[in-house]
Amino acid sequence: DAAVADDPLAALDAALEQAERDLLELGAVMAERVGPEEAEIMASHAVIARDPELRALAAEGVAAGRSPSEAVTAAFDTFIALLADVGGEVFGERTADLTDVRDRVVDLLEGRSTAVVLPDGPVVLVAPELLPSHTAAFPPELLLGVVTETGSPTSHASILARAMGIPAVVGCGGATTTVAGGEPMAIDGGTGEVLVAPSEADLERLRGAAARLAEREVSLRALRDRAGATADGVRIELSANIGSPDDLAVAIEVGAEGAGLVRTELLFEGRRTAPAVDEQAELYRRILAAFPGHRVVFRTMDIGADKPLPFVRRGREENPSLGLRGLRLHLAERELLRTQLAAVLRAADGASGGGAGSGRPAVMFPMVAAPSELDEALGELGGVVAAEGADGAGLEVGVMVEVPSAALDAARLASRVSFLSVGTNDLVQYVFAADRLNHAVSATGEAADPVVLRLIASVAAQGEANGAWTGVCGEAAGDPGLALVLVGLGVRELSMSARSIPAVKDALRRFTLDECRDLAALATAPDAGTAELRRHLDGLLPA
Ligand code: PEP
Ligand code: MG
Repeated sequence: DAAVADDPLAALDAALEQAERDLLELGAVMAERVGPEEAEIMASHAVIARDPELRALAAEGVAAGRSPSEAVTAAFDTFIALLADVGGEVFGERTADLTDVRDRVVDLLEGRSTAVVLPDGPVVLVAPELLPSHTAAFPPELLLGVVTETGSPTSHASILARAMGIPAVVGCGGATTTVAGGEPMAIDGGTGEVLVAPSEADLERLRGAAARLAEREVSLRALRDRAGATADGVRIELSANIGSPDDLAVAIEVGAEGAGLVRTELLFEGRRTAPAVDEQAELYRRILAAFPGHRVVFRTMDIGADKPLPFVRRGREENPSLGLRGLRLHLAERELLRTQLAAVLRAADGASGGGAGSGRPAVMFPMVAAPSELDEALGELGGVVAAEGADGAGLEVGVMVEVPSAALDAARLASRVSFLSVGTNDLVQYVFAADRLNHAVSATGEAADPVVLRLIASVAAQGEANGAWTGVCGEAAGDPGLALVLVGLGVRELSMSARSIPAVKDALRRFTLDECRDLAALATAPDAGTAELRRHLDGLLPA
């Protein structure tokens, strides 16, 4: 306000107090949603924000004529330099804490919003972008909808919104400047409509659409206990993608046949320190327990690019999606990989001890680009199995096929593992060289493109010839029409956002395998086109 703007010392105090309040609030949310350790870190940051010595030093700077943000920066940096002189690992951690709080206070002083300030009631969140780390602290019950300026249907903001059953419109350029906070809004995640101050007629129309959707969901519930299969009874496993413990409830509710992709990196996104073996094992055991008798595929943490994790600090990269991510990062940080593999083995051990009440664990490596990388990873797995004294024989191992080189050489990958799982989200971005996060290029390439579908057909054929089954775990698997095509191409498992399972199950039950094969032939024919395919598939399925 005006008083604060005219008085730099008041501005400094206001920012420090605001930072402390935000941190205490964030700590309370973290305690519930992430864990006590993260909550404690937030509490310790709140203590830093109200440190009297820091405040006194910053106030001296202001008195000497510096701007509040310069003065705060200098004060924090003085303390950081002091700690650096002391040295040691603990002091390194403390330095990181001070840097975090410094940046938060400076952001507040310069009018940039920091992290998550929770609203009083449910809202439509309008933001430039939504990173996985933002959502860790945002209680889903406060989210009615999400509108982001960047992103595409396969960006993690969309995947998370889908998992939570929240309508989302992404790639809505200018949204944050067009929408003033506090206005009534209506959005349609199906059509991408965003209406500010909607008319009564528009509201009526959107409410009608939402009601029809809810009705269809209710009618599909009848399929819950039926297995995934084509009309002629060919089994197709319909499993869930899991990114948080909250996803388990939905997966159980819809009758998911296991988890075809546990995005383990998302389980730890709120953390600043790497989770230890036993903590990971405990969480994996909980996930296994949710799927008695079914396979649960733990993907080793796919860190990097769109999914940075604070506890892995590497240098900045010009092109992070083409950089050190997924398995490549693991091979550079092997302890992280070994810890995780040990955790899966321990969870597996506990699980088999629990008998039929638990799922069958499998491990899958992300972003594999060449057989040599897979060999390195399998070598590490062998080492961990020996070190743990575990029986590795029962552990299925798979590879994500999401890099074109892996798809082209799927035969050699398949000969080394039990299954291949096509990650269409990344495969599409790498086949078309179009960043999945960049709205400006999101019209370039999609999974329904014949180029991608032919590649998937080739992967499934190479897999089959080399003794590995093929699944799909990208967003394409949850698209009922495309799911038919994928099955026709030779895919035998589809893993998707759990909420998509009922509609995909319903679609599959309407067509025989031969009919799916005909659709696949149509979709990959020399003159095939994406738009025609979409129209054709839409005409076959209930709206
Ligand atoms: C994919 O790339 O298709 C995939 C399933 O993995 P993620 O979306 O987590 O990158
Ligand atoms: Mg991927």
